[in-house]
Amino acid sequence: MEKYIDLHVHTTMSDGMFNPKQIIQYAKKNNIYAISITDHDTIDGIPTALFEAQKEGINLISGIELNAKHENAMHILGYFIDHESETFIKKINELKMSRKNGLIYLCRELKKKNINISPKSIMNMHGKINKYLIEKEILNKGYSIEPYIKDMLSFHNDYMSGADVISFIKVHRGISILAHPSRLQIDNVEMEYLIKSLKNHGLDGIEIYHPDINKCTRFFLQQIAYKYGLIETGGSDFHDESVVMGTYNGNDKVPQVLYEKLLNYFNKHQPGKELV
Ligand SMILES: [Zn+2]
Ligand SMILES: [Zn+2]
Repeated sequence: MEKYIDLHVHTTMSDGMFNPKQIIQYAKKNNIYAISITDHDTIDGIPTALFEAQKEGINLISGIELNAKHENAMHILGYFIDHESETFIKKINELKMSRKNGLIYLCRELKKKNINISPKSIMNMHGKINKYLIEKEILNKGYSIEPYIKDMLSFHNDYMSGADVISFIKVHRGISILAHPSRLQIDNVEMEYLIKSLKNHGLDGIEIYHPDINKCTRFFLQQIAYKYGLIETGGSDFHDESVVMGTYNGNDKVPQVLYEKLLNYFNKHQPGKELV
């Protein structure tokens, strides 16, 4: 039986439904060969996940998902980052703080539209605040999310540029991957231009297997990856059971070979080594 993987998984440390231990158990139960935990702006889930993954015999790559400046959501995944580095932790803490302030600002913006969400009560109830909890509150109050999607996506504007995110990942030994490019909502010409310029800043690869990427876009992105010598990765962007872990297009499963290729690429390139 062919094995499959998921290189894009969120936990409760950012906006996922399951904690790192539950994620590893979930992966085990679903026969997933390898996963990467890629929480937004945090690596807090990594130590527990590493411990549990070793126990359960799941291959785990440490990861993170960072936002970069773009009019639509530009997300960059960082794999294999040296998560014990002091400069890395310092910057991540700044990002976390700025994300929290962004969420408080988002609640203020929603209030102007007569949606009354109190960041304080979310904090009191859950001990944290994230986009998922705000969305849940909106739904609990009987509203739909659709009219506020733009607010939800642009809630936080204090981002690094794509080039800065890539070099931040690289300096800390990581591999940088442009996540779910289709969410950028740009045409093929702009997409190629953007990817080419990110590649010039050191981008290593593109997330090509993702539930938001249709067959046609996937084919286009594969050609771009080949043309610019970028690696391909994939994952379900798992937050909760609304997607099936390890899948990217209905029932299509993310193949194990992407994990092996990523690992080989990392071993061959060892980013950051030349900086030591
Ligand atoms: Zn994302
Ligand atoms: Zn994600």
